[in-house]
Amino acid sequence: MTIDSYKFAGKKAIVRVDFNVPLDENGKITDDTRIRGALPTLKKILADGGALIIMSHMGKPKGKVNAKFSLSQIVDAVSAQLGVAVQFAPDCAKAGEAAAALKPGEVLLLENLRFYPEEEGKPVGIDKEDPAYEEAKKAMKNSQKEFAKTLASYADCYVNDAFGTAHRKHASTAVIADYFDADNKMLGYLMEKEVQAVDNVLSNIKRPFTAIMGGSKVSTKIGIIENLMDKVDNLILCGGMTYTFAKAQGGHVGKSICEDDKLDLALDIIAKAKAKGVNLVLGTDCVAADDFSNDANTQICPANAIPEGWEGLDAGPATRESFAAAIKDAKTILWNGPAGVFEFDNFTAGSKAIADAIAEATKNGAFSLIGGGDSVACINKFGMADQVSYISTGGGALLEAIEGKILPGIAAIKG
Ligand code: AMP
Repeated sequence: MTIDSYKFAGKKAIVRVDFNVPLDENGKITDDTRIRGALPTLKKILADGGALIIMSHMGKPKGKVNAKFSLSQIVDAVSAQLGVAVQFAPDCAKAGEAAAALKPGEVLLLENLRFYPEEEGKPVGIDKEDPAYEEAKKAMKNSQKEFAKTLASYADCYVNDAFGTAHRKHASTAVIADYFDADNKMLGYLMEKEVQAVDNVLSNIKRPFTAIMGGSKVSTKIGIIENLMDKVDNLILCGGMTYTFAKAQGGHVGKSICEDDKLDLALDIIAKAKAKGVNLVLGTDCVAADDFSNDANTQICPANAIPEGWEGLDAGPATRESFAAAIKDAKTILWNGPAGVFEFDNFTAGSKAIADAIAEATKNGAFSLIGGGDSVACINKFGMADQVSYISTGGGALLEAIEGKILPGIAAIKG
């Protein structure tokens, strides 16, 4: 079923959203992007004459009630965004009456799902090493099903619009879907957009395809790099990874970040790229610093000949040019991870060169997907969010999707 074809009139829809918004010490929302992201789905259901039961998690209360993470703090903001006085159910597992009383156009927000350990389905208060752990896990899986069934009982249909948690098999993101038949469960608009964006870089690829993987370590990106190797024309590996590659090839990297136990892996990636005909673009020069700080002294040097006591914190000018050259004629672009320590203003040039080239390519018709926490922060820092095709809302979920993993939240609906 799709959200556009479902008849919501007179129906109650339970919608999983990601309202895990950041709050300040007074409980005020500091960034409402996630609430705004869910509005198209929520407004569509209301406009069609449906009633809404909204559910979400917030923070990590670890299965216990904790006022700091209460969704009661966002009721006013959600009411203002929806233009409807949102009702609040202070116990998400005891909201049957309030849900039953909802009339078309009305909205009920459930309290934080993660106040119940059943949401995540992990046994609490028992160590993994404990012999009784497996039993506890089994018992928790059963109570997770009961919890999901209770949530499902509130509504006629289920909509999942929380891409940020789609890689988790939680009660509200996946298990609940078992209690609705295929005609009564669907993805929301935000989810549909994310799925489409991932499809554009994994299957529906316009060529040339350039992927840019940055960040600090090869080890955390290896699954993605391997999956992309079969798909891309150009693969730029930048950021801290540069120095593991440089050292693996016999270079000297000073005190740059380097994973000494991943040198063979780096050589393996180089060999695989060659065998598959992928144009692997690595940093050749860098901005080296004598300290890990914004005010450090700097010098430009080859990425494989960094003086002792110095560390590469950003891509050098020749590298920036080679990155831009591999990006600007691309028709599909994926960017995850900065090319330098972009949090320091003096080490943003590599990431900025990438962002500029992506913006240019996008203007020329490329599809560009930016995702995974830090590259999003980076593009926002440059004020260039409106110059790329799509910015993913899912950190871990996006990375798992690009690795080629099936996301439980999507599989639960699409099979
Ligand atoms: P990740 O979470 O693996 O995507 O890594 C993102 C982090 O990598 C950012 O906080 C950057 O500051 C950091 N980073 C990028 N380039 C370097 C570098 N050359 N040295 C140390 N850290 C880096």
